[in-house]
This record gives sequence, C-alpha cells and structure tokens, in this order.
Amino acid sequence: MWRSVFRGRSGRRASLRAAGRGLFALAAIYTLVAAIFTGVLLSKIEREAKFTRETQIPLILSQTRNAIKAERMASLVRAIYLARDRRLERQVQLQVQALAQGFPFDAGVNVVAGSKRVAILSKEIATARQQARDSAVQNSTAFTFEERATAAYSEAIKTLDDMGKELSGDAALAADRLAEEIQSGAARTRYTVLATLLIPGLSCIVFLWLARRHLANPILSAIANLNRINNNAPTVPHRTRPILTELAMIDDAIYSYGETTSELRRKNVVLQALAEEDSLTGLANRRTFETFLKASLSDLSRLGGTAVLMIDLDHFKSINDRYGHQIGDRCLQSLALVLSSIEDLSKPLSARYGGEEFVVVYNADSEEQALVDALFLCRRIEAMRIPVEGEQSMTITASIGVAFSGKNDPAEASDLILRADKALYSAKSGGRNRAVCDRAAHTGRHVSRAGGNPIR
Ligand code: GH3
Ligand code: MG
Ligand code: MG
Repeated sequence: MWRSVFRGRSGRRASLRAAGRGLFALAAIYTLVAAIFTGVLLSKIEREAKFTRETQIPLILSQTRNAIKAERMASLVRAIYLARDRRLERQVQLQVQALAQGFPFDAGVNVVAGSKRVAILSKEIATARQQARDSAVQNSTAFTFEERATAAYSEAIKTLDDMGKELSGDAALAADRLAEEIQSGAARTRYTVLATLLIPGLSCIVFLWLARRHLANPILSAIANLNRINNNAPTVPHRTRPILTELAMIDDAIYSYGETTSELRRKNVVLQALAEEDSLTGLANRRTFETFLKASLSDLSRLGGTAVLMIDLDHFKSINDRYGHQIGDRCLQSLALVLSSIEDLSKPLSARYGGEEFVVVYNADSEEQALVDALFLCRRIEAMRIPVEGEQSMTITASIGVAFSGKNDPAEASDLILRADKALYSAKSGGRNRAVCDRAAHTGRHVSRAGGNPIR
C-alpha cells in the first residue's frame, strides 16, 4: 500500500524531493487543521463556560434564593398563626405579602401563583383571628372562625411545602444538568486532545518506519556495496528496489560501478600478466627480471649473494632453419619448463631475456656454488627430449654465463648482467654446452663443462 502511495497512480517512482515536499505539505496541513480544530474546541468550551456563568448558575442561585424565601414565608405564616396579638398578626401578614410580591415570574407559574395564594391565606388567617376575637362572647361562632384560621394556615403551609419542593427540584435539576454538561464537555475535550496528540504520534512512527525502510536501508545497503567494491568482493543487490528515484539511481550507479570495477580488475590482472610475463613461455619478461634483480641486490637481509645465470641456446638458428620456427618455439617452451621447475635454488626467478636468451636470478652462497648450479642446469637441458613430428625426438644444449655479487663485492644490476653476458660469450667461444663464471672470462679459470666437474 505504501509503495503505491509513494509511486503514485502512474506507477512511477517518487523523487526524494517530491517525497520531502509531500511530507512537509502533510505536516503543514495537519498543523493547520489541528490549530483550527483546537481553536474551535476551546472557543466552544469558553462559550459553554460563559453560558454556565451567565445563565445556569444565576438560575440555580435564584431558585435557591426562592426556596429560602418560601421557607421564610412558611415561618411567617406560622408566626401569624401562633401570634395572639392583632398588631403583630397585621405586621407579619404585611411581610408575607411583601415576600409574595418578591417572587420573579421566571420562578415558575406554580410558584408565583402559590406565593400569591399564601399571601391571601395569611390575610385570611389574620381576618379569621380578628373575627374570632370580635365574637369571643359567643363561643360557638368564635370556634368556627378559629377553625377557618386553622384551615387557611394548613392550606398555606401545604402550598409553601409544594413551592419549596418545586423550587429545590428545579435547582437540583439545573445543577444536575450543569454537572452533566461539564462532564460530557470534559470527555469531549479528553478525546479531542488524545486524538490531536495520537495522530502526530502515530504518524511519526509510520514516517520513521517508512524512512528506515526506504531511506536508511537503501543508503546502508549502498555503503555496504561500496565497501564490498573496496574489498574486491561482488556487489549484492538491495533486497527490494528503492522506491525513491534518487536512491534507485544511486543503487544502479553503485551496481554498474561494481561491475565496471570487477571488469577493470579482471583486465588489470591480464594486463599485469602481459606487462610482466612473456607470452610464448609464460616466464617473467625482461622488465620483471630487471626489477627483481634490483630488489634482490638491495635486499640486505639476503644470505650469501645474488647469482645471475645468462642462458643462450646453442646453434638455435640452425634448429629453426632445419625444423622450422614452430619447433624452435617448442624448444623455447621446453627450456622455460625446465627453468620454471628448478626447485633447489633459493628464491629463484626465471625470465626470458629476449629471443632465445634466458636468465635465472637467485640467492647463492658463492660464485663457485652458482657455477655448479649452472653446470647442473646445462645437464638437465642436455638431457631434455623434445618431440619432433616424423622423427623420434631431438635434444638441445645451452651455454651459460655466470655472474655473482656477494656482500663483500656489491655490484649494480646492469654491471652484473654485463658480466653474465661476457661470461656467456666466453662459454660460446669456449665450445658451447658449458657454464663459465665471469671472472674466468678474464682469467680462464672457473669453467665448467657439461658431463664433467667444474674446471678450476
Ligand atoms: P649461438 O647462439 O650458439 O652462437 O648460435 P645461434 O644460432 O643461437 O645464434 P643466435 O643467438 O645469433 O641466433 C638466435 C636465433 O634465435 C635467431 C632467431 O631466428 C632465433 N629466435 C629468436 N627469437 C625466436 C623466437 O621467438 N622463436 C624462434 N623460433 N626463434 C627465435
Ligand atoms: Mg643468442
Ligand atoms: Mg644462440
């Protein structure tokens, strides 16, 4: 559902900016609606409070005052009835009349009529009393007036009683209605306040969840993929495609960046091999050999010294001429195989120096030891059988020039190569299929021949 909300009806992705604007608009609309709603609610509460203060509470007070008046009238009526003095009766009766006129019309029709009736009855009590006094000699007549006064008194008390009940009933009713209104108003306010607080609270939770799912997660996944690219690992696509355009673009960009980087790394490995290796034999090329030799000469931790064996196939031109270049290439590859499988030399590097010339550089104890190693190599080359179509097989030989640089007589790389080359020249001129040490190139000593021990 949220996906469809974000993508819209057209199914297009929402842009981050549009989503931000949408959220801002939603928040603004909500704030406006909440402010209007709260304003309306508060002004309603204020109107209700005003109505209560100006109408309902005065009504309750007036009914209470009327009830007190009715009570007062009852005591006055009782006072008239109990009084035995004409003047007192008259005075009290006038007070009753004055109180009866004091009831407002809104006190209720029955109450107004009742108060008037009580005023008449109080007058009747006083009149009957007077008549009873005037005919005091005739006992029977006086008794009749006395009875009339009692009847008027009873009726007045009953009327006042009914008035009191009605007045206090009205006040109680009004107070009850007021309390009920206040209670329901408070409940309405509570629900409204809860709703106004809950809606933004719940919205926040929903927006945080959306932000985590559609903003934070794609960004974290993008960072993880960038780290994978850095660590040379394949990128892993985000579980769900980001629905925000910009994040989807970043996702695509990182994915293709990862692909390009992997492709570049693959090509780099090939290029590095091309730059460092010889394509025909798979051995290191001349550049790699020179770098290795320089590093080896400057390595102070090496034991003994560095030996360079410069190897050149004997009469290779005639092999090419006789068997063709393909067989010539096969000879070069076979020789490379022998050179790359030398096991008893320390830290060796075999390289194709150029054409049919090869070099081996390694850590040797001494020049003498290097010469022995070179002789051993001559023997292995000599013993090699190279298959040739139409013939059983062929053999090749090589001449090796040996140069050595020990700790006591350090040499430059170029100097060492030159010395090995000169020694190779000596080996060639000395009859081929042999190893010659560079010092022997000058002195004629330290020469070794295949099939024999080093000649000193
Ligand atoms: P030597 O060294 O014993 O004096 O005689 P050589 O016949 O080997 O003389 P040279 O070193 O001058 O000849 C080198 C020959 O090696 C010439 C060239 O045709 C051949 N050669 C150089 N590179 C290649 C290659 O990649 N493949 C083949 N098949 N031949 C090559
Ligand atoms: Mg040569
Ligand atoms: Mg040669």
